[in-house]
Amino acid sequence: MTKTAKLTEELFQKLGHITYGTGTCVYNRDYCASICDIVEDIRSLKKEKNALILAHSYITPDIIASVADFTGDSFELSRLAKETEADVIVFVAVRFMAETAKILNPTKTVLIPGTNPACSLADSITAQDVCDLKKQYPDYSFVCYINTTAAVKAHCDVCVTSSNVYSIVKNIPNDKIYFLPDRLMAENILTYLEKNKINKTLRFSSGTCYVHEKYDPALIDEVRINQPEADILAHPECNAGVVNEADFCGSTSQMINYVKESDAKFFYLLTECGLASKLQMELPNKKFIGSCSMCKYMKSNTLESIRDALKTQSDTYQIHLDSKTITDAKRCLDAMFRYA
Ligand code: 13P
Ligand code: SF4
Repeated sequence: MTKTAKLTEELFQKLGHITYGTGTCVYNRDYCASICDIVEDIRSLKKEKNALILAHSYITPDIIASVADFTGDSFELSRLAKETEADVIVFVAVRFMAETAKILNPTKTVLIPGTNPACSLADSITAQDVCDLKKQYPDYSFVCYINTTAAVKAHCDVCVTSSNVYSIVKNIPNDKIYFLPDRLMAENILTYLEKNKINKTLRFSSGTCYVHEKYDPALIDEVRINQPEADILAHPECNAGVVNEADFCGSTSQMINYVKESDAKFFYLLTECGLASKLQMELPNKKFIGSCSMCKYMKSNTLESIRDALKTQSDTYQIHLDSKTITDAKRCLDAMFRYA
């Protein structure tokens, strides 16, 4: 068997049974054969540059199966970026995640290969907005979701991710909290505080994730009727109606763990559809229902752009942050690691 035939088979074994993703993430043997050269190129560039490739779980499965060293949620990937000894970190996700890696490990070269690595939440608020809000609410602790720019983090007290938001809000020693930028996640925090009889005042801004805001509780009612055996999981960026009706709410990695441990055969995941594709790759016996909701920003990462980023390390791909932003934003992220 030639090297290419062997790699084709290796990739097809991992990717061949994925059906989720409205055709975008469905791979046959010919497709697997067609990416062998680029996969080999990336693997050798990775060795040559001593690079680590971190991929968020929303990234297309061909990237995850062929070149990623680790996949995970934003908290896990931040921790890996903080601890790595590689010279180069390729953050296959969106810009705010790559910026977080640079803040936590500033001597490394951090590359973001996505061609449009924005995020509707991170883009909904600026550092100037935060400064104005702090003047308006001087006795509040400012808590930012990790889906914010480095400049915004630099003005906040504590950062949270979807995996630790509730416990951090609970643990912060201030009963006045300004949460930004996700309005829907803030509504879920309010439910959590009420349910747990925690007496804190919560103010929040008005950003939303354009992928998660579209889900409606009526979808869940439909699934309960048509597929009563399905477990329904929601991300905390969904609205409170959805989260309250779901069987489980958590970060992308917490959802993965739930699916792995559940005895159910059918799952409806109210989150970006890369997660269901990834789970189909890993757990071929579990069935995922529902249609695909794609994040165009996460999906702007391709094998071609990863190769180009690693080869050229040009300014188009490199994350550059000034030292004051790094110091101030690091204080906000360090507070998260302390409270989490
Ligand atoms: P996770 O941290 O749960 O992976 O979420 C990141 C994200 O952007 C979800 O839309
Ligand atoms: Fe941002 Fe939503 Fe995309 Fe996550 S899914 S990166 S929150 S736009």
